[in-house]
Order: sequence, then C-alpha cells, then structure tokens
Amino acid sequence: MKPRITVAHGDGIGPEIMSATLNILEAAHADITFDTIEIGEKVYQRGLLAGIEEQSWETLRKNKVFLKAPITTPQGGGFKSLNVTVRKSLGLYANVRPCGAYSPFIRTKHPQMDVVIIRENEEDLYAGIEHRQTDEVYQCLKLITRPGCEKIVRYAFEFAKRNNRKRVTCFTKDNIMKMTDGLFHKVFDEIGSEYTSIEKEHWIVDIGAAKLADTPEAFDVVVMPNLYGDILSDVAAQIAGSVGLAGSANIGEQCSMFEAIHGSAPRRAGQDLANPSGLLLGAVQMLVHLGQGKTAAKIHNAWLKTIEDGIHTYDVFQEGVSKKKVGTKSFALAVCERLGEEPTSLRPVSYSESTPLELHYKRSDNFKRAKKDLVGIDVFVQEDNRTPAHLAEKLISVIRDLPLELQMITNRGVKVWPQGLSETFCTDHWRCRMMSKDGGPSGPEVNWRLMKALTDRGIDVIKCENLYLFDGEKGYSLGQGQ
Ligand code: NAD
Repeated sequence: MKPRITVAHGDGIGPEIMSATLNILEAAHADITFDTIEIGEKVYQRGLLAGIEEQSWETLRKNKVFLKAPITTPQGGGFKSLNVTVRKSLGLYANVRPCGAYSPFIRTKHPQMDVVIIRENEEDLYAGIEHRQTDEVYQCLKLITRPGCEKIVRYAFEFAKRNNRKRVTCFTKDNIMKMTDGLFHKVFDEIGSEYTSIEKEHWIVDIGAAKLADTPEAFDVVVMPNLYGDILSDVAAQIAGSVGLAGSANIGEQCSMFEAIHGSAPRRAGQDLANPSGLLLGAVQMLVHLGQGKTAAKIHNAWLKTIEDGIHTYDVFQEGVSKKKVGTKSFALAVCERLGEEPTSLRPVSYSESTPLELHYKRSDNFKRAKKDLVGIDVFVQEDNRTPAHLAEKLISVIRDLPLELQMITNRGVKVWPQGLSETFCTDHWRCRMMSKDGGPSGPEVNWRLMKALTDRGIDVIKCENLYLFDGEKGYSLGQGQ
C-alpha cells in the first residue's frame, strides 16, 4: 500500500512552491498518496489561535508524515506559532538541517561546506514559560531535561553512523549555564562514548558559532540545544548559498514533518518567482525517511543537474554563472526534464532504502532515583528600596524564629549582600537565599511558616524555589558567574 502523507499548501509563496514540489514528486513516481489540510493565515483569521483546525490533528496523527509549506504567522493578538505547536504536540524532537555548498554554481565563500545541524526541537527557552514578575523584571524559563538531551544526542550519533559522517560536534554555553547546558554537554560525553568510531568534540557556542561562520568546512554533524540551533542553522544555510535552498526534517518517535527552512515571503507571492528548492529538498528528506531512497536520489540528482546547468530562480541568479533566469513553474519543469540524469561537476547523491531513523526513547536500565534532601529556599521578592542591607535586616528579623538563616541576597544573579559593591546596578527584583540552620528541620512546614511570616511583614514574595541536594550534590547554582 502507498504511504499516505499529509500536505499543507501554506501562505504567501507556499502554494506555488508546494505545487512545484508535488509535480516533481509525481513525475518521479514517488510512491505516496496524500490528504490535504488547511493551515495558517485563513485559519488564524477564523479565530483559531494555533492556526490549525481540530480535525487536521486527526489527519496528521493518522498519516504520521507531514509535508508542510511555509505559513504567515500574524503578529500580536495572542496567535501562536504553528510550527512550534506542531513540533511540540507531535513530539518532533529532532530538527535535521543539511547545509551544503553548490559552488561554483551558487555563490558562497565556503565551497567545501557540508554541514548537518541537528537542533533539539522541544525544550530550552522554547517551552514558552514566561512571566512578568515585577515592574522592571520579566523572566523566561530555560528547561533542559535528561530525556530531551539523551534523545537528541543519540539521534545525532545514529544519524552520523547511518550517513557515514565522521564527526559529531556539540555546541553549548556550559561555562555560564553550568546546570542546563552542563547537562547537555555531559549527556553528549556519556552517549558519545558508545560511538567509538565517530570523532567527538565540544565547543562553547560563541566561539563555535564564529568558527562555523568562518570555517564551516571544519564541521560535519553539529548537535545543539534549541535556541542556538535555531539561529545557527539559518546562518549555516545562508553562508552555504541561500536560506532559499535548505530543507529541514522534524523527526519524532511516531510522526515527522518536512519543510523548507524559509518563511512565506509574502512580497514574492503569486508572481511565479519563488524558488521551490528548500521545500523540494525537504521532500527529498521525506522520501529517504519513507525508505524510498532511490526516488529521493533521482529527484535530488535531477535538482543538482538543474542547478549545475545554470537554470536558476531570481534569488540565486548570478550574471556570468547562471544561464537562464526562470520562475517557479519553469524551474520545476527543468527538474522534471532531468529526472534520471546525474550532475557531472557537483557530487551525485545516493540514499539507501532502509527503514526510517526513528528512535524510541528508553530510560537507562541503570536509572536510579536520587536521594533528594531539601536544604534551603530561594525567595524572590519585589522591593523598591535599593539598599540590600535594609532588605537583609528586615528578612533576618522575619526569620528569627525559624530554623533558617539568610545566606545571601543577589540582584540579577550578582551578590549584593553580604559584602556587595556599591557600583552594582540593582533592579526591584531580589533573590534571597535562606538555608536550613545547622542542618536543622526543613520541608513544606518550614516553608509555609516562612511564607506567612514574610507576607505578615508586607514583603512582596514573587516566587520561591526549593534548594535540594541530589545524592549529596547541590541541585542549584551559586548564580554569580558571568
Ligand atoms: P522569509 O523567509 O519569508 O523571507 C526572507 C527573504 O528571503 C525575503 O526577501 C524573501 O523574498 C526571500 N525568500 C524566502 N524564501 C524564498 C524563496 N523560496 N524564493 C525566493 N525568495 C525567498 O522570512 P520573513 O520575511 O521574515 O517571514 C515572512 C513570513 O514567514 C512571516 O509571517 C514569518 O512568520 C513566516 N515564517 C514561516 C516559517 C514557516 O512556516 N516554516 C518560517 C519562517 C518564517
């Protein structure tokens, strides 16, 4: 039976590039059939904040594989990003973005570049948990989980193994975010050690990003948390030639979504101008995922030959290099005419007909719940008087009868009491760390009494965070690193 996929034509240039892509899939006899769903602008306009109808979820879950054209996300008005909603709701944890150069046919400063960015797709600052806490301070919660790290890191190594890639590099900022990014790095080292034939390396993301932008040919597969991956995969695609050329796969344990990395380019819509290559290369990734490697290679090679023959859309057209400037439809036709041909200067591709790279997360057999001891509490308060000593005095008097002692007060993570510097700029948001006195009693009962005592004295408590030891190891940062 032909695999049945879901297709969405999207907004702006979406319908044009989708119809070009479907024409090429049909001409190549891709073994698929599809259902079409409506997403994006028109659905948002009907008042559905996520840009998708309820019944479309059933289609997506039934068919499991989704080929999606870009959509236009309305600004403001509480509208949610459809991409983020689909990725998170369907558990599409791995975003795979190959970024290779097509020199000399597409202009690039990095002709040897052939990088695959594997971006964690569900966690990090994209949890969307944001709060305004005081007049001056807003926060966004960065969530990194062990299962999330294990899933994406294992995917990166399995991807490298299957595609004969030699090295996996990890980017984090664990010199600053020692616990969250530290966990990502630690899991990278743990899982990486199982893949003895693959080289491993870790870069701090700032210098790693600089190196990637300057010398991308030094990288092979690069795995990273969500935000860094979002930014750097666009950088990588752009320096390879154009964001208009890159496709992207979003892979989960059961479902997957394939798309172009660019947006709906509304200014180019309806003029038969847009380059369909990003979506087409997303569809090639989809065919590989469906085990139709031969058809995927046939389309990819015909596309490479079209690029090599200098048949280019306006966005990649260069005088002296390109031979013919074409629109969306003519470009698709040129690819169809070359089905069965291979490029002669660019390297032809081949794909295996293997089963999809779908990994199923299983918690390690050695997993043991840690012994968790509550040893203190961070109380966050709003206070307009900017003298930390004044706040400390007030807090010490409030907790006098409790088995707690005030250890420090920080403002935006910088210690301001005891022994702060008068130069430190302070906002109205204070983190007050209170530890159990002499290993004395702690727990919900003490915390409850603390909250009552603080509110009775008119202290504006924003939130509290328990401080635990996990098997004797601190489960909290000192918060002074910059
Ligand atoms: P964009 O990617 O749509 O356009 C950026 C620039 O690249 C524009 O100059 C555009 O003309 C050009 N461009 C992009 N794709 C092209 C193609 N295939 N052929 C030729 N030229 C192309 O980014 P934007 O303008 O910031 O966003 C437009 C809309 O797209 C916004 O509403 C945004 O929210 C949405 N968006 C959607 C997705 C998605 O659905 N996956 C991704 C990114 C942005």
